[in-house]
Amino acid sequence: MVFLLVIYGLVAGSFLTAYTYRLPLGKSIKKGRSICPNCKKKIAWYDNVPLLSFLMLKGKCRRCDRKISSRYPVIELMSAVGFVGIYYLLAACGSTSPLSSNLICSWQTELGILSLPFMLLLFLIVLMIFIIDLEKRIIPDELSLFGLVFVFLSLLLINPSSLYVHLLSGFSAGVFLLSIYILTSGKGMGLGDVKLALFIGTLLGWPWVVVWLFGAFLTGAMAGIILVLIKKISFGKQIAFGPFLILSLVIILIWGEILLKLYLFY
Ligand SMILES: [Zn+2]
Repeated sequence: MVFLLVIYGLVAGSFLTAYTYRLPLGKSIKKGRSICPNCKKKIAWYDNVPLLSFLMLKGKCRRCDRKISSRYPVIELMSAVGFVGIYYLLAACGSTSPLSSNLICSWQTELGILSLPFMLLLFLIVLMIFIIDLEKRIIPDELSLFGLVFVFLSLLLINPSSLYVHLLSGFSAGVFLLSIYILTSGKGMGLGDVKLALFIGTLLGWPWVVVWLFGAFLTGAMAGIILVLIKKISFGKQIAFGPFLILSLVIILIWGEILLKLYLFY
């Protein structure tokens, strides 16, 4: 099972490398095969195997020796690690493992066997947003909207009585970020972050939405300070907020409860 998930994760990651590149440019995902940006030669299927081809070709085009961007193996690897990680998170439910998370295990209780595809799809949407915002500093509306509709339908299936609270949580998170957007006249964050908050806030519900936003601001501030200290950016320079909203989501999903307890008791 783990081996299969590594393969599926690598293949999904390979699609993501293309999709996250083409979506912000408005290019069709279906259009054409991959070509080398330097010599324009079509890349043969055996040179397009996720991760393996990159290693075999030592990161260079077979024909022109041009370096292949490391985003390809990195994204493929992230995707595979995510797939396997989700499997272990679900397998940890009911055990005393530190990976056993109430949020994730409640999905498993409600969705049963469907919890794996539910989390994998959620992961792919979120990973795409993470990559695109990190590289291009935009969050495509269609991804946040797709995520919101997906979460809405899943909640109807999981626990319809909680739908109202979840929608209100998403709405509050959206309004909160929107007010920062207005107060900072768009310098603090973008409207893409507002729509992302609508999606993730609806997914998390109360009180996790608060912990999640708190975590995003905290990790964002820490990263900002570190980047200024190592002189990667100058003080006052903007960095995309979306990746921190997603980083915080991952942390909250896995260790949210432990962190909340620590925070409340100390
Ligand atoms: Zn080439």
